[in-house]
Amino acid sequence: MTKDNLLGGAGPATRAIHLGYDPASENGALTPPIYLTSTYAFETAEDGVATFAGERAGYVYGRSRNPTQAILEARIADLERGEAGLALASGIAAITATILSLAKAGDLVLVDQVIYGCSYSFFANHITRFGVEVVFADFTDPDALEAEFAKKPALVFFETPSNPNMRIIDIRRIAQMAHAVGALCIVDNTFSSPIIQQPIALGADIVVHSATKFLGGHGDLLGGIVVGSAKTIAAIRNAGLRMITGATISPFNAFLILRGLKTLSLRMKAHCASALAIAEHMSANPAVRAVHYPMLPGFKDVALARSQMSGGGAVVSFQLVGGREMGMRFINALKLIKCAVSLGDAETLVQLPAGMTHATYTEEERRRFGIPEDLVRLAVGLEDIEDLLLDIDGAFESIGSARTGTGG
Ligand SMILES: *Cc1c(COP(=O)(O)O)cnc(C)c1O
Repeated sequence: MTKDNLLGGAGPATRAIHLGYDPASENGALTPPIYLTSTYAFETAEDGVATFAGERAGYVYGRSRNPTQAILEARIADLERGEAGLALASGIAAITATILSLAKAGDLVLVDQVIYGCSYSFFANHITRFGVEVVFADFTDPDALEAEFAKKPALVFFETPSNPNMRIIDIRRIAQMAHAVGALCIVDNTFSSPIIQQPIALGADIVVHSATKFLGGHGDLLGGIVVGSAKTIAAIRNAGLRMITGATISPFNAFLILRGLKTLSLRMKAHCASALAIAEHMSANPAVRAVHYPMLPGFKDVALARSQMSGGGAVVSFQLVGGREMGMRFINALKLIKCAVSLGDAETLVQLPAGMTHATYTEEERRRFGIPEDLVRLAVGLEDIEDLLLDIDGAFESIGSARTGTGG
């Protein structure tokens, strides 16, 4: 159905636009059609039986696969350098379907201590109800993880940069440690997108995404992606999607994510440039106590970030002089920038993780795991940078904090 052999040495922007689809297979339609069908008719009962048995190629029922979804899966798998992909209804569906397919009672799952709030709650409170043991540890200090790896985890899970405070985890190192004890290494690559980081190329086995964020890119859908070996993806499709969660992506959302992918490379360049400019602007402001952004010169993990990412992404986290109270006043004083969770949208969004995305951690857990109560998370969008800086400086002015030094 495709002419992917023509894409041999093509770059990621080209591949995100063309891979996995040949208009000639669909009456010349330039844009992939949306297949709105729940089931598929067979010519004969024999064909039906053979298709169910996997002896004959073809679709059987919409919960496991749909042709619009299949193009999306091929395209993301290619961008992430994996053999196969699976699209689901949300990022949490992708994460839970993966873990519920691969872990069994008695297994140990080793998880970094700072991850997306609902992922944290799944690992801390829910998968544990089924006899899976979960240990949280600080993956930014691999030397201190020897004892945890000696317990032979079956699965290892982390995000990098980690949501919300942008810690950077050494993907090559953790993947090596996982493989040395026979564990699969799973990376949530939502904060980077495959345009700026490809964990599988660095040694990870499985990549998961909230496609709600950069991949969709327009804040108008929920979706999730898993990429890995063909064998692993087939297992997750059959168990995690088809039998356990039933969290199928709608064909319409698969279409919208395909549309988003066409501009992913362009959008990531703009997100990264604006976020770096804001991070630099903020760190020159005496009203800002700390700025956390991977590519900011002087950021603690900048060298590691540069070794595995080609840009810093859209999220800039910071702490203000005056703490949480001042952070909330700052959020309220912004006009163009909206107070909302999520990231990767055209609109710049701001939120207070301790009270919003990471309220699933208890206050004691946030303290133990290093998630500051006063952290403000800014997800930089695609507006003109001058307008974003004006909004930010205007907010500082109205809450009575010092304005940035560049030019007065
Ligand atoms: C948003 C997010 C998720 C969850 O994805 P949904 O699409 O909202 O279910 C998982 N991981 C990270 C890093 C996220 O930012």
